[in-house]
Amino acid sequence: MSRVGVFVCHCGENIGSTVDCPEVAERCKQMPGVVHAEDYKYLCSNPGQNKIKQAIKDHQLEGVVVAACSPRMHEPTFRRAVTDAGMNAYLCEVANLREHCSWVHEEADSTTEKAVDLVRLQLEKVKRNKPLQPIEVPITKTALVIGGGVAGIQAALDIADSGHKVILVERSPALGGHMAQLSETFPTLDCSQCILTPRMVDVSRHPNITLMTYSEVEHLDGFIGNFKATIRKRARKIDEELCTGCGECLQKCPSKDISDGFNEGLTTRRAIYVPFTQAVPNIPVIDVENCRHYQKKKCDRCVKACPTKAISFNQQDELIHVDVGAIVVATGYKVMSTEKFPEYGYGTYPDVITGLQFERYASASGPTQGVIKRPSDGKEPETVVFIACSGSRDAAKGVKYCSKICCMYTAKHAMLLKHKNHNSKAYVFYMDIRAAGKNYDEFVRRAIEEDGVKYIRGRVSRVYEEDGKLVVKGADTLLGGRPVEIKADLVVLATASLPNDGQSELARKLHVGCDEYGFLAEAHPKLKPVETNTAGIYLAGACQSPRDIPETVAQASAAAAKVAALLSRSHLTREPIVAEVNRRPAPLHSDCTGCFLCESACPYRAIGQEEILDRDGIVIKTIAKINPGLCQGCGTCVATCRTKAIDLHGFSNEQIFAEIMSL
Ligand SMILES: Cc1cc2nc3c(=O)[nH]c(=O)nc-3n(C[C@H](O)[C@H](O)[C@H](O)COP(=O)(O)OP(=O)(O)OC[C@H]3O[C@@H](n4cnc5c(N)ncnc54)[C@H](O)[C@@H]3O)c2cc1C
Repeated sequence: MSRVGVFVCHCGENIGSTVDCPEVAERCKQMPGVVHAEDYKYLCSNPGQNKIKQAIKDHQLEGVVVAACSPRMHEPTFRRAVTDAGMNAYLCEVANLREHCSWVHEEADSTTEKAVDLVRLQLEKVKRNKPLQPIEVPITKTALVIGGGVAGIQAALDIADSGHKVILVERSPALGGHMAQLSETFPTLDCSQCILTPRMVDVSRHPNITLMTYSEVEHLDGFIGNFKATIRKRARKIDEELCTGCGECLQKCPSKDISDGFNEGLTTRRAIYVPFTQAVPNIPVIDVENCRHYQKKKCDRCVKACPTKAISFNQQDELIHVDVGAIVVATGYKVMSTEKFPEYGYGTYPDVITGLQFERYASASGPTQGVIKRPSDGKEPETVVFIACSGSRDAAKGVKYCSKICCMYTAKHAMLLKHKNHNSKAYVFYMDIRAAGKNYDEFVRRAIEEDGVKYIRGRVSRVYEEDGKLVVKGADTLLGGRPVEIKADLVVLATASLPNDGQSELARKLHVGCDEYGFLAEAHPKLKPVETNTAGIYLAGACQSPRDIPETVAQASAAAAKVAALLSRSHLTREPIVAEVNRRPAPLHSDCTGCFLCESACPYRAIGQEEILDRDGIVIKTIAKINPGLCQGCGTCVATCRTKAIDLHGFSNEQIFAEIMSL
């Protein structure tokens, strides 16, 4: 290519104040292959783009270098402009004079000199560019939602309502997540299950939703629009088609003393169980580790009790392969183990409980039908101390971050206590009150001003038992650190929210990133808050960071909108920056020696094998073959190839070396 035009943008003062843009344009005119160069205040503006278009026509340009801001910002703008002027979009390159030069250096001759060098690099590259055509790929119009808490439920319903098929995969035996465990919800105090269970039923009945509970994603291949997921459907040991949910089997099970996870260990359940009364689906599951049939090989009482012969001891896990176009990850959170806080007495004193245990006591469907009691003797507590930030904002023993929901649910707990027992006393130890949200601050004020909850700003140093009471020792920092001692009947710890179990393994399977705490990472905190760095995979809810229900639902709907927009397209257009194995005339056929190091290095599993046959159909060589549909253009295979048999379109070895040599 011998007719290149260079356009130098001032980006207002952004580039112009440190780089001498007219000088860069002048210097470019001297470079071999450049037939036109000019500078302009804002090349991304309409008049700026028109200048480029006009110059392409006036000077019969074959390639363009725009020296401006980051290509992440305006490469699409300039590529559109050259296309309008009849040039192939991939014959336009952007030299980043802003982030790579003007923003990181002072005004100086050397800054302008570096700008000239940056343009020279792109000039050498563009001279070797070849016209490329975007790749069109079809889209599988089904979404996969992973996690069936309120986030997954909302995302699945929104996508399904927009007319697309959804596969909702939940790893526990029933939908609902943590919200199903909650009593009433801040800031409106509406009953959690009353608002959630109708949505769970909607999911199970929606014609566009396939619900797979007791299931997990085992493996994922593919790319946006064309993912292939393998889902392990764990054996419930119940035939879901035959089970009517009558519950006869549950009554007959002799293993009764298993800690009930849904009730946070406050009650026990049987080895065959439905997690909670309103569970969707209302189908039991056999807990093999605690079932006498599996452990002692002798019990079959549930089989005898089942009127429809639905119990199937031989049922095995199934691996189900599904094709999906987009994925929403909504795998939620867990709360911090209280073992880290022996000074608060959890595990030592039965009347020290967690926030989730308090929720179960306060819930009408809980072990005490909504009456708040103390675990030790079943009596209603008179004085309750709530300890906020148990593990949050505590780099030494817990996590550095604020768990965000605890200030609000602690205020709710104190309020619920006062509503249920008017004579009770509620004390909250807190660090700061963080109640930012619609009607949130008002909610906390209501707890203090109307319900008489006493807030004490300070840390608790110790909880111990004395004369049948729990003594909570702390300091009131608003009174200059004066020691405070409260004799309580019940202590409730607002434990920190953490990334859910198995989240990092799932992130690895999906090729999505995690942040420093292990929560799933968004592509951009402001501009791409529900996208991940893997195109076509979106995030919803507390898997991304601690968040409350309104925020979770809003984010789930946002992710669903992104998925619906994607699935409503007939095909996807992808950048043609993909790798290719070279071909040579016989007898060489290719520089590839068939070592297949590239195949194992490719993170997108885009490389397979191709047999080269002679005229008689006999295999004479086996070489690597790259699937352009799967290749994401990362270049790993190019770097791995020992015979330089692979090149990346748009970033060939020849181009890269020419850039280096030009310096
Ligand atoms: C004590 C307490 C009280 C609270 N009170 C309130 C309140 O009053 N108001 C409010 O707005 N918020 C409240 N919250 C916060 C609320 O619980 C969360 O906002 C909400 O549950 C987040 O929903 P989620 O779907 O993102 O996550 P979760 O509820 O955690 O659901 C995640 C789901 O994903 C499933 N899952 C996990 N991993 C996988 C996997 N690998 N494959 C498939 N499925 C998987 C889980 O089994 C679960 O069903 C409270 C929290 C606590 C701890």
